Amino acid sequence: MGDKSAMTMITRRKLFHSATAALPLGMLGAPGAAHAKLTGVHADIVVTHGNLLTMDTAAPKAEAMAITGHHIQAVGSNDDVANLIGPKTKVIDAAGMTVAPGFIDGHSHPVVPEHAVSANVNLPRIADVKEALRRQAAKTPPGHWVRGVMYDDTKFVDNRPLNLQDLDEAVPDHPVFVWHRGGHTGVINSKAFEVAGITLDTPDPVGGKYYRENGAFTGKVAELAIDPLYEHGTWPVIDREVRQDSVRVASTRMASYGLTSTTDAWGEGANLLALQDARAAGQLHFRVSFMPYGQDPVYQSLKDAGIYSGFGDDMLRIGAVKYAADGSASERTMRMSTPYLGRPDDYGILTMTQEAIDAAVDDAVAHRFRIGIHSNGDIAIDMALNAYERVLRKNSGRNPRYRLEHCSLINPGLLERIKKTGSIPFPFYTYAYFHGNKWTEYGEEKMEHMFAHRSFLDYGIPVAPASDYPPGPFEPMMAIQSMVTRQDTHGRVWGPGQRISVSEAMRICTVHGAYASFEENTKGSLTAGKLADFVILDKDPHSVDPHSIIDIKVVRTVMGGRTTYEA
Ligand SMILES: [Zn+2]
Repeated sequence: MGDKSAMTMITRRKLFHSATAALPLGMLGAPGAAHAKLTGVHADIVVTHGNLLTMDTAAPKAEAMAITGHHIQAVGSNDDVANLIGPKTKVIDAAGMTVAPGFIDGHSHPVVPEHAVSANVNLPRIADVKEALRRQAAKTPPGHWVRGVMYDDTKFVDNRPLNLQDLDEAVPDHPVFVWHRGGHTGVINSKAFEVAGITLDTPDPVGGKYYRENGAFTGKVAELAIDPLYEHGTWPVIDREVRQDSVRVASTRMASYGLTSTTDAWGEGANLLALQDARAAGQLHFRVSFMPYGQDPVYQSLKDAGIYSGFGDDMLRIGAVKYAADGSASERTMRMSTPYLGRPDDYGILTMTQEAIDAAVDDAVAHRFRIGIHSNGDIAIDMALNAYERVLRKNSGRNPRYRLEHCSLINPGLLERIKKTGSIPFPFYTYAYFHGNKWTEYGEEKMEHMFAHRSFLDYGIPVAPASDYPPGPFEPMMAIQSMVTRQDTHGRVWGPGQRISVSEAMRICTVHGAYASFEENTKGSLTAGKLADFVILDKDPHSVDPHSIIDIKVVRTVMGGRTTYEA
């Protein structure tokens, strides 16, 4: 006991010293010392009477916390912070509710400008979708396209996908395109076929399809059949202003679910500009790690400017360069060593050769970029690890924390190599819950080795939190429930051997998220000296039925001492 508290003091003192260097004068503070020596240094905000789950192993539980400027000044008991409350201090009485570090999403695509100019049709009933499209049409000039986004064919209570008749009934006069959240398919109406000049006599383009049934279009269009649509009629303009607004919309929504940090995992130059524009306008409500896409001009531009990973500040920082080596988990195209269930010849697709991966890693290392390779299937993961092992043999040194984006299907051999190279996997954290209908094509055996949070933890691998929004939901409470129960919306359990505890899931969404971007010294836990990023939850995820964690409400989200959401 005595040893433990001595440890706590040392750890805290260390943090205190390391933190003060980065803090402006007048922001000194440390737990314990605060009320004894620093009277007069009042906090800007004090949270009291909370159930603080600090994620700080030195002091995992606390009641209260004081914040000055952007940082946490002290964490402790109500008494510890009492003397830090001055006349101008804002006191937030948590009334016994749970206070946790702000949630971090290590792989997401938050900048989707289409979302700012479209109807969001992520709705439970087809009738709701029709109503949303009707409203969007009412504010769309004649002849212009009406867009819907976030459609998912498998999620309606109606138990069927959206079709051409639905869209014709809702919007007869405008061309309509409803985009699937997976990004590879959509549904259009009769007016859209007419505007695009596509008739039943039109053949399907190579690599694309206009779905037909009983001699008529169903409305579904896929892959390269979508591209020609953009050449006809007038589409909503996506300009600099719209892009900025999409950041405002996304960060406002994500803050309302408790996220304080996210990642742009396929960064284009226009996104980087939009993030900066939103920030300048006071509309950026999350911190962002910007991962330039290796094939986008922005990557070359950053290299030319002499910028590499780590450049930026606590709000917007350049992360790893991103490449993609294979297909998708949810759209069933990832490259595996064994075939898909019921398709004995289908092993999925590779999108890079080993030589191309090696060259990308060499180039990133030469330019001091971290690298993240999208590798879903075990074959693709093996290839990414080959490249990481090869470059580590040449350049030994500190652990570069190379990223394995998704890293969906693993085996013991891969786990050993991930551990040995210090690589970080980013498996989908909401997929077991959200995409259940897709897992039948992998089967129970494979699902025991997919999104393998349990295996990663057992091997001591600091597995990172990853939504891959929009294909995957980003909501942290859904993520925690998904990782804890592995149960989908229909009650089926996928890979029960990969279940983890609530505490482990919360650690992944906070501490591991910070570690994955080399920011473990500034965020991820409620510790004096760290950024004041936290959430107040109406219930403790440890004390509810694990199947209702998703119903826990975020009462308040605070990023750097600023409230970004309040219920
Ligand atoms: Zn992604």
